[in-house]
Amino acid sequence: MYVCMYPITTRVKLVQRHSVTLRRLWQTAISDDNDNVPELDKSYYIIDDRNLLRRSKTGLHVLDLIDRGAVEPDRALYQRLLKTCTKLGKLREGRLVHSHFLLQNPDVRDDLVIQNSVLFMYARCGDLEHARQVFDEMPNKDTVTWTSMITGYAQNERAVDALVLFPDMLRGGSGSRPNEFTLSSLVKCCGLIPSYGDGRQVHGCCWKHGFCDNVFVGSSLVDMYARCGFLGEAQAVFDELGRWKNEVSWNALIAGYARKGEGGGEEALGLFAKMQREGYGVTEFTYSALLCSASSVGSLEQGKWLHGHMLKSGRKLVGYVGNTLLHMYAKSGSISDARKVFDRLVKVDVVSCNSMLIGYAQHGFGKEAVVLFKQMLRDGIEPNDITFLSLLTACSHAGLLDEGERYFQLMRQFGVEPKVSHYAKIVDLLGRAGLLDRAMSFIEGMLIEPTAAIWGALLGASWMHKKIEMGAYAAQKVFELDPFYSGAHVLLANIYASAGRWKEAANIRKMMKDSGLKKEPACSWVEIENSVHVFVSNDIAHPQKDKIIKMWEKLNQEIKEIGYVPDTRHVLLFVDQHEKELNLQYHSEKLALAFALLNTSPGSTIRIMKNIRVCGDCHSAMKYVSLIVKREIIVRDTNRFHHFCDGFCSCGDYW
Ligand code: ZN
Ligand code: ZN
Repeated sequence: MYVCMYPITTRVKLVQRHSVTLRRLWQTAISDDNDNVPELDKSYYIIDDRNLLRRSKTGLHVLDLIDRGAVEPDRALYQRLLKTCTKLGKLREGRLVHSHFLLQNPDVRDDLVIQNSVLFMYARCGDLEHARQVFDEMPNKDTVTWTSMITGYAQNERAVDALVLFPDMLRGGSGSRPNEFTLSSLVKCCGLIPSYGDGRQVHGCCWKHGFCDNVFVGSSLVDMYARCGFLGEAQAVFDELGRWKNEVSWNALIAGYARKGEGGGEEALGLFAKMQREGYGVTEFTYSALLCSASSVGSLEQGKWLHGHMLKSGRKLVGYVGNTLLHMYAKSGSISDARKVFDRLVKVDVVSCNSMLIGYAQHGFGKEAVVLFKQMLRDGIEPNDITFLSLLTACSHAGLLDEGERYFQLMRQFGVEPKVSHYAKIVDLLGRAGLLDRAMSFIEGMLIEPTAAIWGALLGASWMHKKIEMGAYAAQKVFELDPFYSGAHVLLANIYASAGRWKEAANIRKMMKDSGLKKEPACSWVEIENSVHVFVSNDIAHPQKDKIIKMWEKLNQEIKEIGYVPDTRHVLLFVDQHEKELNLQYHSEKLALAFALLNTSPGSTIRIMKNIRVCGDCHSAMKYVSLIVKREIIVRDTNRFHHFCDGFCSCGDYW
């Protein structure tokens, strides 16, 4: 039975254009008299864009029809085939068409139109080596040729190659004047590197060729300046666009502010409101940019407000924006809301599964991660390297040793080659479980050269389990491979200090000072009623300073009574016990906690963010505080989330 899948007009047009033979076959086919179809399978007749290149049941397609003489080949047909390949991103088929055409027309070099189509096909499908070969073989090049090559590089993020080519294009004279596509691709490249200097030069070219009020070029310029960190320039280009600007220009500027971090989020939200007042439509991209900004500062309130806005505008949770929303909830500490979003996604794909798995990993929900992974496989979603990395992290954070090792073994079965990051996770997993010797032999037996990150994982585990010699060995390896590896010096100094080996600890500190390495200043922040309050250790500049100190002193007394002992291993100073305790008292996360307790309603969850790992003493103090105040305290540090409740932490003291 023949099923008509596509509009008849498309097919008839094609058939009429390309072959009398086909038209005859076509008429036979639609007459429902299937027995009369001569020799060829009837699926040939469906030759619109989708099916032009699809092989039929007998393994033939249009190219075979040409070979059999059933279709007259001409340039127009080849061009249409190339266009289809480009549109559908079919590189393999594109190569086939190209070589077929070369066989039929060996003397093709001068045919600019066909060569341009071939070049464009290769560039668009990401085969830049073949694109470049065609490009280099062309004796005459026009604007389209140059632009195809430059755009190809830009789309595949090969910014330098594109920028290097541009001066040659300019030397080519009037036949190769850059157009809006050339220029916006080049501007994009400058934003990718990012290179402000190159950006300024290309901007100059845009002026010279009269494209500055072109919305396409202008929006790219806004985006480029924003990516280079020059928001003033981005704003100026945006303003110059005047009435020519569109949603893309707005989004470029909003995303620029949103990426800026501190303070940028508010400006982005201001622009978001202005954009709507001026009657521009909000797109998925706008929401994504704003949600990313909300999640980078961990602003749950802002994220929730945006979610509400999306719902009111009747938007469905599709594609990228659904995943960004999920990511925002997970990163702002609300894993249950993240899961709700996940369950409501219109289409679950590997990206959304990965976002959910990363969320579980950071919150230490190892079992949930394993369940989700199994579900993924049942639903036929192909896992990738990020899936495995998140899964291994989740297993490591939850202490699921057997599962972690099993999934690591499973990777190759799914065609995913383990990378350094995966190996580091296994070292981490073994290390947390206290199996440091096994971790060491795992490193020695690895198929790849161990990197600083791998030794760094062993160093972290050595610190956790107070293995001084192994820690020193691992640290030595880290310094050899990457003298600036973040945190290694501090960890090693802490290992020595905790064992009372002050001289060695002091040596490390001197080493840090000599090499100009600085400890990143610790800070914590909390969001209360839409404003973010930042606290720095031992430095209270907050208007509520006195109240905060009083609050913490009271808490400190109360938790000491129920068993909290200040862990002074975390203070690297030659001071007596009393002073060490004082130093610990005003760590930024404790100040943030005291402030949050003063300014939130009883019983509500407290969310604190920290820019480095939470220290062992604060971790212990938080557990006791959660017991006393009977509230859930969630702390996000660079490594993961800690949910403190009833005197326990979700990390099980592994982090
Ligand atoms: Zn601390
Ligand atoms: Zn914890």
